[in-house]
Amino acid sequence: MRPRSLLAPIVLLAPFLFVALAGPVLACGPESLGTRRVLAVDTAGGVRVGTKSYPATLPLADKEVVLTFDDGPWPGTTEAVLDALARECVKATFFLIGENAAARPALVRRMIADGHTVGHHTWSHPILSKIATADALNEIERGIAADDRAAYGSVSATPRVAFFRFPGFADTPELLDRLAERKIAVFGADLWASDWKPMTPQAQLDLVMKRLNETGRGIVLFHDTKRQTADMLPAFLRALKDSGYGVVHIMPAHPQAGRSFYRSLSAGG
Ligand SMILES: [Zn+2]
Repeated sequence: MRPRSLLAPIVLLAPFLFVALAGPVLACGPESLGTRRVLAVDTAGGVRVGTKSYPATLPLADKEVVLTFDDGPWPGTTEAVLDALARECVKATFFLIGENAAARPALVRRMIADGHTVGHHTWSHPILSKIATADALNEIERGIAADDRAAYGSVSATPRVAFFRFPGFADTPELLDRLAERKIAVFGADLWASDWKPMTPQAQLDLVMKRLNETGRGIVLFHDTKRQTADMLPAFLRALKDSGYGVVHIMPAHPQAGRSFYRSLSAGG
């Protein structure tokens, strides 16, 4: 599948030295949820965010959420998630499994073309705290390489987007140190939808809105591999809008080769 050819003009999001492309050209009027603001994350210095695992989280205001989706891309469900996000003009962050990205590079390129952030979630999703550190580091690096090759067609010494999430949030002190040395930010979550448990889309919607109303803000974890999540997402985005929540889109403060890549994607289709 080719990326969408209807790309909006490149827009500079001052003051961020970064370029965002809209995917489908949609009328994002006041009735749509939209993306409230962009938060540039400086990945140097051992960034670890998400209060389920770490003491700190992103600097979000009350009623601000960051939407994240793990384990994709996956045929069918990832497209549905991307369609739902596009309809509401919302940008999200995807933490990819490398072998899924390698198998479905067109879906990864669509994420990029639609303006989402593509982070990393290992090559094959092992629980890294249960394997040797050398093997865990290999899983991390192999995953980043596979994601970048799918997204950008090449691999560089530094990940374009130095965002990483541990499978099962299973970090170790040694791995955290190694990621900090590589200036890779580690993302946990502030709440989740428990979408690994089978439930109806309505039950999942009720659960995640209840949790969100309790925390009032935060990084929300979903899985774009789950049909129940894909089915729930349109109603969830409506509920955010109706309840006065705003979506914050995270990007690296210093993306590697970001602008030249986006230009080449725009030109090459
Ligand atoms: Zn995962």
